[in-house]
Amino acid sequence: MNRTLLALCAALTVIGGSTAIASPAKHHVVKHVASKATKAQKIIDVWTCPINMDHVTAKDQAGKPQVIGHFRVHFCCGSCPPVWAKLSPKQKLAKAEAAYKMDLKSKKAASSKKK
Ligand SMILES: [Zn+2]
Repeated sequence: MNRTLLALCAALTVIGGSTAIASPAKHHVVKHVASKATKAQKIIDVWTCPINMDHVTAKDQAGKPQVIGHFRVHFCCGSCPPVWAKLSPKQKLAKAEAAYKMDLKSKKAASSKKK
C-alpha cells in the first residue's frame, strides 16, 4: 500500500517537474508585459481645469484632484467636480487630454514670455 503511494508520488513529481521545465518561457513573457504596463502608468498632473479649461494653481484648486487614465486633473472652482463626476470615463479621458494639451500650450506661452 505504502509502496504504491510512493510510486504514485514519484510519478506525480516527475509530471510536475516536466511542466515546470516547459513553462519558464511563458512566465517570462507575462512578466515582461506586466513591467511594461507599470511603466506606462506614470501619472501626469494637469493644471488646466478639464471643465472650464481655466488654468489652475495648487493654491486655488477646488475639490480633490481626480485621476483618469494616466492624468491627474485639478479643478479651478467648486462647481467643476460635480460636473466632472457626471461624465463617462470616456468623456473624462477626452477632457483630461484636451486640458493636458492646453496645459502644454500655456506652459509654452509662459516660457516664451520670459524670453
Ligand atoms: Zn472650474
